[in-house]
Amino acid sequence: MNFKELAQKYDTPLYVYDFDHFTEQFNKLKKAFKARKSIIAYAIKANSNLSVIKHFSNLGSGADCVSIGEVKRALLAGVDKYKIIFSGVGKRDDEIQEALIKDILMINVESEAELARVHDIAKELGKVARISIRVNPNIDPKTHPYISTGLHENKFGVDIETAKKMYIFAQKSEYLNPVGIHFHIGSQLTELEPIKEASQIVADLVRSLKAIKVDIKFFDVGGGLGIRYKDEELIEPYDYAQAILSTLSGLDLTIVCEPGRFLVGNGGYFLTKVLYEKVNGDKRFVIVDGAMNDLIRPSLYNAYHKVEVLSSVKNPEISKANIVGPVCESGDFFAKNIEIPQTNPGDLVVIHSAGAYGFTMSSNYNTRPRAAEVAVENGSDRLIRRRETFEDLIACEIDYMV
Ligand SMILES: *Cc1c(COP(=O)(O)O)cnc(C)c1O
Repeated sequence: MNFKELAQKYDTPLYVYDFDHFTEQFNKLKKAFKARKSIIAYAIKANSNLSVIKHFSNLGSGADCVSIGEVKRALLAGVDKYKIIFSGVGKRDDEIQEALIKDILMINVESEAELARVHDIAKELGKVARISIRVNPNIDPKTHPYISTGLHENKFGVDIETAKKMYIFAQKSEYLNPVGIHFHIGSQLTELEPIKEASQIVADLVRSLKAIKVDIKFFDVGGGLGIRYKDEELIEPYDYAQAILSTLSGLDLTIVCEPGRFLVGNGGYFLTKVLYEKVNGDKRFVIVDGAMNDLIRPSLYNAYHKVEVLSSVKNPEISKANIVGPVCESGDFFAKNIEIPQTNPGDLVVIHSAGAYGFTMSSNYNTRPRAAEVAVENGSDRLIRRRETFEDLIACEIDYMV
């Protein structure tokens, strides 16, 4: 990919996405599950650009959504409504209502109170709500605590006993149709054992539900497959699928898998330009035009992103530096103490693995317009989101001169 050319053409800060990589990742995972019927439901929150969703939809992908806004994005991008799942611990009544009217595959319910709400709303609308229940299998996924979700100490899902009660309630209700079961133990998973354990626990629940005539059709294993940011040992999609499938003998289920990061993480690059270098005492700083408002993962999780500096200095000396942005926070950095060459203003810095939870977590902090996004596919590039303007930023503010 010619980053310099792209930066020149579209300016910086800029997100660039390799759509061919997205395709490859999707096909790898789809193939891994080929022994069974499966739906790969792309977790839209990882990268919600409509063109990205459309790209996956064209490949046959469904969508895993965590707000009605994401459901609308999925529908707008052409995702088959019977491949759309709506998850999340706190859905508003109007969100549930709209999801039922839009007739998506299933609403993933995360508490008894929510199940009662879905029941009441379905009844009001005279509809039958297809639901799945998110089970919290109490498994430690051995990932970063902020992105672990399958322990009882996390807010997600319900325990096995509660889930059982909920399925029985749903089974009895004429307004609820319990078609699925769901778990999602965390993100950036790099170990197989926790997934297998969780899958086993949930599969056993499916068996005991079957015994009481609750017939689950969709076995939703969530997302979470990790990617390589630095030197992580990864789970192969094939092994991942095998670990899950090995727990399902004797069960006729369609697998639903909700990858986000795995599909888009390593296909994304964040391009930013050097503004200045400076030295404070013995600390060297390279100040760039992108910032934590564009890519917050280093600030938020202390996440590692590979940084590539395309220096224009002749025979550049290498020394330790922090790469920082212009935002007024000490936490505004992309990398710390990395060995990089001397730079000139205007030199390009490429931040790798920025395709997932990059742009979608960006903000306008410091009244900074959000970056543009570009797709590269089959050797050609196109703008898929224009850079924001100051006018965009203030568009919702009213009556300030009174
Ligand atoms: C965030 C999320 C995903 C995707 O997680 P990744 O780690 O990006 O694969 C899938 N399912 C649910 C319910 C989620 O909340």
